[in-house]
Amino acid sequence: MENNERDYRRLFDRSIRLGLTDLLEKVNEGQRLNFKDALRLYQCEDLNFLGAVADRVARKKNGERVSYILNRYLNYSNICILSCQFCAFYRRENQPGSFTESIEQLVNEAEEAAVKGATEVHCVGGLHPKLPYSYYLELVRAIKQRVPQMMMKAFTAVEIRHLAKRIAKKPIVEVLHDLASAGLDALTGGGAEIFDAEVRRQICLGKESAEEWMEVHRLWHNLGKKSTATMLFGHVETFPQRIDHLFRLRDLQEETGGFCAFIPFAFEPANTKLSHIRKTSGVDFLKTIALSRLCLDNFDHITAYWISSGMAIGELALNFGADDLHGTIEKEKIFHMAGANTPPGQTVDALKKAIENAGKIPVRRDTYYRIIEPISLRNSENGSFNPSKDKVKNNQEILRKIP
Ligand code: SF4
Repeated sequence: MENNERDYRRLFDRSIRLGLTDLLEKVNEGQRLNFKDALRLYQCEDLNFLGAVADRVARKKNGERVSYILNRYLNYSNICILSCQFCAFYRRENQPGSFTESIEQLVNEAEEAAVKGATEVHCVGGLHPKLPYSYYLELVRAIKQRVPQMMMKAFTAVEIRHLAKRIAKKPIVEVLHDLASAGLDALTGGGAEIFDAEVRRQICLGKESAEEWMEVHRLWHNLGKKSTATMLFGHVETFPQRIDHLFRLRDLQEETGGFCAFIPFAFEPANTKLSHIRKTSGVDFLKTIALSRLCLDNFDHITAYWISSGMAIGELALNFGADDLHGTIEKEKIFHMAGANTPPGQTVDALKKAIENAGKIPVRRDTYYRIIEPISLRNSENGSFNPSKDKVKNNQEILRKIP
């Protein structure tokens, strides 16, 4: 408690110099930030201050715990009828590099992942013009039948609308109901990008609108189901457009309560039509994590997606408001086809170590962000909570700079 008060005192002194005392007090009292507040925080150049304030919020919500999941990414096909300017994953039918997996192949991969201890498959693909509706239902059913303990998180809101409008030709809610009955546990958060209509015209022409994306999640949540929300940032959008995105998500969460977590991704420009854009910085990633934590007061969890940030920045993000380091993933393709130079997967030990290096306690979670491994102070190597002191020191240097 003493440390807590001393830390707050330091932040308070700092906030006076930055002219942000009113916002620090607002956050500390649990009051909701408005658009103007968020913009003032985004314009604050003191990253350390933002990180420390966001970290206080994360600690209040989740204590010292940071979660990770053992999961496996599956992509059923990269054939897509759209050509989003930011995407390096899609191919047309018969174009070199296009693929469509058989259900058997995907089920085998899910089974292989289960043998290694994975509890989730995360499955998305392009908007395939010809795969029949039965393929999608059978895929979910087959995975749940062969590996019943596996939770299945699949399909973006964009894929759901594609299935409803062009493939099954059924109302969206019926498609969602069919998938839920087949065993789908959660929808993925992809396809949200940045909600602003002009940004969407520039980066994903022809894709569904913000309202359409939200409608799919609203309907899914109304069935009593969960999903995650995302934001693809660091391309053509402005800070106000990012804040607008966060606030629209906050409004929807207020209405349905169905989002488990928010996952911001930094745009990977290589091999895309927007390859002239420079990849955003680690500082921008950390700032966005901190602002997400501060703006999304009704989201329990903020994920640092290491595939997009790299592990070093992902580790730091755990002191900037993130309380989840996503998962082992094993076979990420979408960011890697766009030039991501992170590994396609991580070991459990690497995730735990990164969490411990941030001075936090690793806990294993399921798809709904529920802790499934008892909170433990042990690390995987020597049975004790013993993060490298140098690493912790290094990671927390930023916070200690606050006088
Ligand atoms: S982002 Fe999705 S919808 Fe857009 S082109 Fe890529 S695969 Fe298709």
